[in-house]
Amino acid sequence: MKEFWFYLKFIWTYVRELKRNLIIYVCTHIIRVIISIIVPILSAQAIIHLTSNAWEQLILVAIVMYLLENARNVMHYFGNYNAQYLYRESFIRLQTALGRQIVQIENECMDSHSSGVFIQRLTNDTSKLADIFFLLNRSIANIITDVGILIAVFFLNKIVFIYIVSMLLIVYAVDSTRVQKRGEKDKIFREKNEKVSGFVGELVRGIRDIKMLNAEDSFMKELHFKVRDVNGARYDMGDVDRRYVFLRDLFYDLWDLLLILLLVFLVTHNGLAVATALIIYNYSGRIGSIISGVSTLLEGVKDFNLSASRVYAIIEGEEFPKEKFGTMHLDNIEGNFEFKNVTFHYGSDKKKVLNKINFKVNANETVAFVGKSGAGKTTIFSLLCKMYDVDSGHITIDGVDIKRLDKESIRGNITIISQNPYIFHMSIRDNLRLMKENLTEDEMVEACKLASFHDFVMKLPDGYDTVVGEGGVSLSGGQKQRLAIARAFVQKTEIILMDEATSALDNETQSNIQKAIENMKKEYTILIVAHRLSTVVNSDRILFVKDGKILAEGSHKELLKTCSDYRSLYETEMEK
Ligand code: ADP
Repeated sequence: MKEFWFYLKFIWTYVRELKRNLIIYVCTHIIRVIISIIVPILSAQAIIHLTSNAWEQLILVAIVMYLLENARNVMHYFGNYNAQYLYRESFIRLQTALGRQIVQIENECMDSHSSGVFIQRLTNDTSKLADIFFLLNRSIANIITDVGILIAVFFLNKIVFIYIVSMLLIVYAVDSTRVQKRGEKDKIFREKNEKVSGFVGELVRGIRDIKMLNAEDSFMKELHFKVRDVNGARYDMGDVDRRYVFLRDLFYDLWDLLLILLLVFLVTHNGLAVATALIIYNYSGRIGSIISGVSTLLEGVKDFNLSASRVYAIIEGEEFPKEKFGTMHLDNIEGNFEFKNVTFHYGSDKKKVLNKINFKVNANETVAFVGKSGAGKTTIFSLLCKMYDVDSGHITIDGVDIKRLDKESIRGNITIISQNPYIFHMSIRDNLRLMKENLTEDEMVEACKLASFHDFVMKLPDGYDTVVGEGGVSLSGGQKQRLAIARAFVQKTEIILMDEATSALDNETQSNIQKAIENMKKEYTILIVAHRLSTVVNSDRILFVKDGKILAEGSHKELLKTCSDYRSLYETEMEK
């Protein structure tokens, strides 16, 4: 219970503005509950009036009952309205709050978790949390009613009261064991479910590669295995329910039968009035609902605790650390930066990807990083954007350590164009607007022209309003790269990082973009990683990266003379 209150308080911080709806919902429910206590008393009276031919009283009682039932319907309507509103709004608030936290999680942590972990928590778990107010209200109101009825029974007949309480305790013991065991199985089920939804996400995203690799069968086998596994866990949960519910219902039916016998016995041998016995029996259905009320509450609380702990882990837990930024803000950066003795390794991997690396790039310089695949070039870009934190050493922008800078000063001033840029499932216009909300038509067209993308867009039936599919699936690799380059031209940040950004382009398009980049030179700091050395020979400087170190630096001509690794890379390319 302590755990429950802790998580309830935690969730409450996100939904406290909905207090009014919650109060209305609870009040309407209480009124309904009161009516449902009164109606059985009236109906017992109606039966008595009927048997004693007291027609006037019978009509009066019937009218009151009718009005009460209608009042109950009206309360039901308003209660439902507020409950639905409460659910919708709390779901939105919780999902938004969780989504906001997820985008702040450290990349290293994201790398090591399946996407299912986040998808499941963002959808299923938040939905269960939003449901808690329904559950609490329904269950608590029902339990209060039932306790009220129990008190009434206590005054009506002590023997029946003792009988009912002892039976309730037995049934409760069975059911709380069920809830405990079900909770354990539910935890296992949800962990497996996260893995499956991560896998399904990959399957959908990788469907083209799977088809090309003719690997449908092996993927289907894997999917079958995983789906069977997760459904096995779901079955185990149902199995616990089935066995314990069976046992509980056995007790319950026995309880009902014995209650009738007890009432008959008390009427015939103990002087219990028939009317009182009728009232008690009218109540008995409701008393039975204590059991389902309590078990729904127990199950709901367990379910809520599990969902809340999973959401809490992302929002507050140490398992999902958030990116940390400094507080210093640079309004206009010049674009100078420096790596000083930077050492870095990824996650649990012991191998140093960068080892005491040192270099400096001046504002408005165009610098290329070359070297074999896996040398650490992309990692340099990632560290500069603070996608990961360095192990030791310092990275500075305009002389300030990036650890001291706020997010906007770093990422707001750097654009990265990668080899395989992610294009969103939106129109081309909206993909560009993501970078700048108030983008004008002229700015958009200009950026696309610079990126040699405009002519292609003009040939599309819907032009800039063409929706490009998830991940830009309807675009070729080269078209995606050109759209990504156009995005960068829209953003116009001071530092532009191009990581194999033109690798999928034909020579003509590449040379057009090269010209656009040439035009940007001297205005922007541009870093380029490229496999084709021909695309970087005109850079102001070339840094040759090998095994996480800068092996040599200089112009193309200088490196040909001073760096044998560079020379052999160049010669290999010339031979092709
Ligand atoms: P390059 O850009 O020069 O081809 P990278 O910087 O991409 O090289 O990679 C350098 C090394 O770091 C490689 O050995 C690669 O396997 C490893 N690496 C890159 N990204 C990650 C990551 N997210 N997690 C773990 N290892 C990584």
